[in-house]
Amino acid sequence: MKILIINAGSSSLKYQFMESEGGEVFAKGLCERIGIDGRLTHKVPGREDVKSDIPMPTHSEAIQAVLDIMVDPVKGVIKSTDEIAAVGHRVLHGGMAFTESCIIDDKCIEAIKKCIPLGPLHNPANLMGIEACQKIMPKTPQVAVFDTAFHMTMPAKAYIYAIPYEYYEKDDVRRYGFHGTSHRYVSARAIDMLGNPAHSKVICCHLGNGSSLSAVVDGKCVDTTMGLGPLAGFPMGTRSGDVDATILEYLMGRYGYDIKEMLNILNKKSGVLGISGVSSDFRDLDEAAQKGNERAALALEKFIYEVKKFIGAYANAMGGVDAIVFTAGIGENSIDLRRRICEGMEYMGVKMDAEKNNTRGKEVDVSADGSKVKIFVIPTNEELMIAMDTAALCK
Ligand code: AMP
Repeated sequence: MKILIINAGSSSLKYQFMESEGGEVFAKGLCERIGIDGRLTHKVPGREDVKSDIPMPTHSEAIQAVLDIMVDPVKGVIKSTDEIAAVGHRVLHGGMAFTESCIIDDKCIEAIKKCIPLGPLHNPANLMGIEACQKIMPKTPQVAVFDTAFHMTMPAKAYIYAIPYEYYEKDDVRRYGFHGTSHRYVSARAIDMLGNPAHSKVICCHLGNGSSLSAVVDGKCVDTTMGLGPLAGFPMGTRSGDVDATILEYLMGRYGYDIKEMLNILNKKSGVLGISGVSSDFRDLDEAAQKGNERAALALEKFIYEVKKFIGAYANAMGGVDAIVFTAGIGENSIDLRRRICEGMEYMGVKMDAEKNNTRGKEVDVSADGSKVKIFVIPTNEELMIAMDTAALCK
């Protein structure tokens, strides 16, 4: 089935048009500066990228621009928008309402709206993308795929916070976790690469600009590092990961920050950028560290150390581990970081093959012969998961 995938942000919208079976990508692109002026970048495999300035006062004009270029006789890939069988939307926060993907109807939209307080930055933008598609393609079925859904199988001991229970009961405060579509995809691939055993224990390391780990038993998530929001866990590009809440009170008192300013610091100015003062990009950090920048080296060390700690914690929580998976920008591409994360874990049966690890962006088993725990590099494919869910629900 040919599926259009939409990932709408507040001023941008990513799209991908693909086949749900086999994952062939026909076209993909990005609308930027929605609400400001509007710019479209359209990519078709084997052709030159097309860039054009198109007014996009709202997400509706952005969606219209995507459909127009898709049916353009020269730049397009289809004759008519009727060839789009369904639209799959990435939605950040499904709260407790969504444990799996669902067909978008009025009830679903209401439930996504109810999750806005939990995902105040992303859910309104996701809804704008959904409403624009409904307006422009009213007859095409739409599906919502949630970043949180895969983690909803966590047991209470993993998702409950040790704060008064009434905040869970009355206000839905709990661990939700994110990157769920990626964790679902790579854990399923890993189980396949393990030979589909009846029982499996997998740790997925989604290491990108935003990063999270998940512990997956028999294909079901039992724990993950992100929490109510995507700020939690270990240090990321610009996000702090877990911090002692006392730091907030201390810094807010010293500098007179309000909570918005404080959260802006923790979300945008922290992580490896905050420690290094150099960059949030791990390639820049590598380069700076190699030139002797000590803070860049410390930022990398801190990242590696915290990932190692979570791997140890999850192996213990699951009572063992069969495979560790590396995915996303850093996990798929940084040979050195993968090596350093796995270093010193031989005691628990994790042995990497340096030669095999010399790989980027490919699905490879990089564990040494005889390693008790498999180490897999698996390029994530959230779009394929969204396309497959959408096709399955729209059959
Ligand atoms: P993502 O959010 O999954 O797109 O990942 C983006 C991040 O991947 C970038 O910020 C880089 O830090 C990282 N990255 C991409 N390529 C490499 C590489 N060759 N070595 C180290 N880090 C990389």
